[in-house]
Amino acid sequence: MSDSTNNPNHHKVIILGSGPAGLTAAIYSGRANLNPLLIHGPLAGGQLTTTTDVENFPGFPEGIMGPELMQLMEKQAVRFGTKIAVDTIVKANVTERPIKLEGHSGTYTCDSLIISTGAAPKYIGAQNERELLGYGVSTCATCDGAFFRNKIIAVVGGGDSACEEASFLTRFASKLYLIHRRDSLRASKIMQDRVFQNPKIEVLWNKGVVAVEGTKKDGVTALVLEDTQTKVRSTLSADALFVAIGHTPNSQLFAGQLEMDENGYLLHKSDSPETNVPGVFVSGDVQDHVFRQAITAAGSGCQAAIGAERYLESLHE
Ligand code: NAP
Repeated sequence: MSDSTNNPNHHKVIILGSGPAGLTAAIYSGRANLNPLLIHGPLAGGQLTTTTDVENFPGFPEGIMGPELMQLMEKQAVRFGTKIAVDTIVKANVTERPIKLEGHSGTYTCDSLIISTGAAPKYIGAQNERELLGYGVSTCATCDGAFFRNKIIAVVGGGDSACEEASFLTRFASKLYLIHRRDSLRASKIMQDRVFQNPKIEVLWNKGVVAVEGTKKDGVTALVLEDTQTKVRSTLSADALFVAIGHTPNSQLFAGQLEMDENGYLLHKSDSPETNVPGVFVSGDVQDHVFRQAITAAGSGCQAAIGAERYLESLHE
């Protein structure tokens, strides 16, 4: 193990990412006296900062605002000795020891690395889409669906995510439009069947959303659609737009070094959050395209921290 006492940029554990996975990993490794360094880019807090009320994180019966939840987690991590650096890591070498990370503001080394860099939802690029994010536009049905009880909800996408979100959202919606740019869905047959058999869902084929109408005060009021074949535009009344066209895991930094699946999600051992490189652990959405919840990310951050702690102990055996 490298000597961490002489080099201030060397750490036993570095955690990349400040969403629920990274911050939980920081709380656990801080309480294990590992003095972790958590590095995040200019936007702290991960995807939860793009949502408003979080009603499904245990311990907050009245709900909590996403950004506030992340601030509380950060406070808890700092309380147990986590140091936080704001830097964008542009190069990583995880195969040599110490592990080396190069950022815009400095170079960092560590004995063990926890990657919690998350995943970025893809957006359609419609006018007003980003402005109304959290005000009727959402990328997470489980997070925000309950705000639209008895409302008209639109979901855009044609894959498993869109079908799953559409089916789930019919619990709340009075009417659900699934808007897809082609005339057939990409989703698996079972998911398609669920959509077709649901009386609340109407699929709008060959349509793209070109603009979202509404304001932060009133939320979403309508969508401007364009037929992908005839280019004819129309307006659809809707109270919410859920964009479900997939996520991109933030794993590019480790291409060629860490094993990932065909979509770029980092892989770990079946019984441990450790990757194919000893001492390198993963948690949160960068390794999970199935659950993608704050609480599952936090749980996997805990597992990664315990994994890192045990790995560091094993270096002394
Ligand atoms: P996906 O399979 O890549 O599907 C993305 C969908 O969004 C496609 O229908 C695509 O249209 C559409 N799309 C992409 N870019 C668009 C744009 N700019 N404008 C409008 N539409 C756009 O992504 P996913 O549904 O998130 O699934 C990702 C992976 O996770 C898949 O392997 C899926 O099976 C898996 N998954 C599984 C489950 C489950 O089993 N419960 C649930 C969710 C996800 P086109 O069809 O025209 O390309």
